[in-house]
Amino acid sequence: MSKTITIALAGNPNAGKTTIFNELTGLRQNVGNYPGVTVEKITGRCRHDGVEVELIDLPGTYGLTAYSVEERTTRRFLVDQRPDVVVGVVDASNLERNLYLATQLMELGEPLVLAFNMSDVAQSRGIEFDLPQLSTLLGVLIVQTVGNRGEGLGEMMDAALAVARSPQSASSRQIKYGREIEEEIVKVATILDAESSVPAGYSARWLALKLLENDSEVRELVGAHEVDKQVEASVRHLRTIFGDLPELVIAGRRYAFISGACQETVRSTVEARHTLSDRIDTVLTHSLAGVPIFLGMMYLVFYMTFTLGEYPMGWLEQLFAWTGGVISGFWPVGSDSILRSLLVDGIIGGVGGVVSFLPNIMLLFLGISLLEDSGYMARAAFLMDRLMHHIGLHGKSFVPMLIGFGCSVPAILATRTLESRRDRLTTMLVVPLMSCGARLTIYALIIPAFFPRHWQAPMLWLIYLIGIVLAVVLAKLLRATILRGEAPPFVIELPLYRLPTMRSLAVHMWDRSWMYLRKAGTVILVISILMWAMTSFPRKTTFDRNYEAELAGSRAEMIVGLDQVGRTLGLPDGSDSFVRAVVPECLLVPTTSPADESKDDPQYARISAFLQARDSLAALRSRWDASLAETSARPGSVEHVALEHARSQALDRLAAADGPAFAAAELYLDDVRPAYERQTRAIGDALRAEELAYTVAGRIGHGIEPAIRPLGFDWRIGTALIGAFAAKEVFVAQMGILFAVSDDGSGSEALRARLSHAYSPLQAFCLMLFCLISAPCVATIACTWKESGSFKWAALQLLGLTVLAYVLTLAVYQIAGLVI
Ligand code: GDP
Ligand code: MG
Repeated sequence: MSKTITIALAGNPNAGKTTIFNELTGLRQNVGNYPGVTVEKITGRCRHDGVEVELIDLPGTYGLTAYSVEERTTRRFLVDQRPDVVVGVVDASNLERNLYLATQLMELGEPLVLAFNMSDVAQSRGIEFDLPQLSTLLGVLIVQTVGNRGEGLGEMMDAALAVARSPQSASSRQIKYGREIEEEIVKVATILDAESSVPAGYSARWLALKLLENDSEVRELVGAHEVDKQVEASVRHLRTIFGDLPELVIAGRRYAFISGACQETVRSTVEARHTLSDRIDTVLTHSLAGVPIFLGMMYLVFYMTFTLGEYPMGWLEQLFAWTGGVISGFWPVGSDSILRSLLVDGIIGGVGGVVSFLPNIMLLFLGISLLEDSGYMARAAFLMDRLMHHIGLHGKSFVPMLIGFGCSVPAILATRTLESRRDRLTTMLVVPLMSCGARLTIYALIIPAFFPRHWQAPMLWLIYLIGIVLAVVLAKLLRATILRGEAPPFVIELPLYRLPTMRSLAVHMWDRSWMYLRKAGTVILVISILMWAMTSFPRKTTFDRNYEAELAGSRAEMIVGLDQVGRTLGLPDGSDSFVRAVVPECLLVPTTSPADESKDDPQYARISAFLQARDSLAALRSRWDASLAETSARPGSVEHVALEHARSQALDRLAAADGPAFAAAELYLDDVRPAYERQTRAIGDALRAEELAYTVAGRIGHGIEPAIRPLGFDWRIGTALIGAFAAKEVFVAQMGILFAVSDDGSGSEALRARLSHAYSPLQAFCLMLFCLISAPCVATIACTWKESGSFKWAALQLLGLTVLAYVLTLAVYQIAGLVI
């Protein structure tokens, strides 16, 4: 071989470059223990394996910025002269600091070999390396050397020559700087490419990175106006997000990368790490305490999300209810305008239902941003990494899975932290198997209806567990089939702990929440309208039952009841004024003050006595009920008995004031009015159920009944499942309508009672199983579509999970049916 191969030695001052250089070339350079001895590069020659080698001893540097003469000399030489191989001489006893330069050499993209020099010192300090693993993580060959004894230098030269012969095979790993910085790098690099202002020998990415690092030399080198403008904007953007100069953030990321790589591959048999971060880490990443601490932290985040979020959520719900009421107010009472129904039930109901989750979402993201920005999330991922590796996933996949217990949509967004596309897709596809909060509403309806108390908690646990196990199995399956591929060894960056800035928290939280809002404004809006239409049309005009007559009947019944009340009050039969004074309230129709109208009536005094007694009694009851409910005293205790006694005394006083009026008020409040309300509500519910059965959704429910009958489901479940596809919460509301009971507190009891009549516990279990696995909600599918960048994956998720749900539920229902 005639060609001379040039090998440049680069490294921190005092890493032993000159020593190695002298060993190899036999030259006597100054070997010094202080920086700056080698300012100019020195060249020498040697032969290895019959190859003529030109060796260059570069000045010692800590980085490759343009800050010092040494760094500039080294960088200029590496870029302009392009040695065949760069040997990064690393002081292995001081690894993390020395690897900083190595990461920058990696970024330069030139063929690289690392010499872990001073390995004797490292060994005597009790440091052990997993070199093969570190080598794969960095994508660089690593050789251990002891420069002053000449050990390992032969291997070093072997490695260098091997890399020189096939430079393509030596592709070192690229450091990823996180979404925000990467986005800016791409922006700058795109302009660089477009302006064709990338000088020969440089890569656009490297230049862009250096520009963001405010590298004066590279700025001069590029010197294009358009690029400057973009760089300025990018730097400003990054500064607002991180509250720090981009170059510092970038340096931090490099250290985080190194720290992560070392955490996995370097063991110290003597405890030698003493920074504050390290001390925090000894607790937080403790092999036993680490996981419980992590679960505790996540519990705190969930707790904050749901408890603090409850209040603003309530306000938003009220706001939407109020808006709905105001809009309804434009139409006369009882009108069945389609436009009104579209606006109130369709749009405000649907979108409002989603937007009212916004506080939860924002709080969840705030919590996660806090954990991320402080540097904790990286540790958590590190802890879970081994566990997740068993399912063929990256440790970072754990976080989206966990978020999935809250809601699949933010969980899928959270997969963005995963670098590997295969990991991302796998995680995205199985995330819906984590039972989300909306599904919990379904379980909460069904479990108490069908299972005895001591079975309820295990049942819920079982359902959650089935989801988790299925997610694990499916992830493994996906990684073994369509998403097969060696998981590239990734370094989990371990940044130093730091106090997150308010600014970056706000930006992170808002970025993600905005995505959620935008979705509510688009996808969900369309789906809501569609669902509304499906559950509203075609409209039924002739009904099986004569609801008008039924309503009239119950009204007549009420009038009879009122006569009874009137008699109790001491009024003669058929007092019109009395009925007129009370009926409007029963019908919930506002009229002119009824009492005033009755002023001419000779019985006016009795009527107003009744009205007064009624109001006093109602007020008294609610007041005493409230104070009895609030007291911490147990029923039967002295305080409780005293309270009850006080209440009955108050009631007695009221009764003593006007006995007949009191008795009449009791009769009215306890019997007549509740009976009427119960009847009219039942009639209304039945009417709605009949209407719903007639609509497209109802017909589809009937239509798919043959297909779902083998699973133990009937048309009502089928219809409700269609609603559940829009949002899982809708399932409960639709079952309520279909079983013709109102959706208030007493309604859910009544619904449970009716459900437990209609279905068996096995059917109930199958229903939960199906809801757990089957088609995730529309928002999830839309999100998968968007985040995976292809409809294919969303369709796979939709169909795959639905088919799986069908098959599993079928198996469970049929097999269990045989056994029972
Ligand atoms: P440079 O600044 O990178 O050129 O480093 P030098 O070659 O000047 O070495 C600095 C000091 O480290 C010298 O005293 C060397 O003798 C010593 N040295 C170099 N390599 C090794 C090694 O592998 N083990 C030990 N113990 N000392 C080394
Ligand atoms: Mg030197």
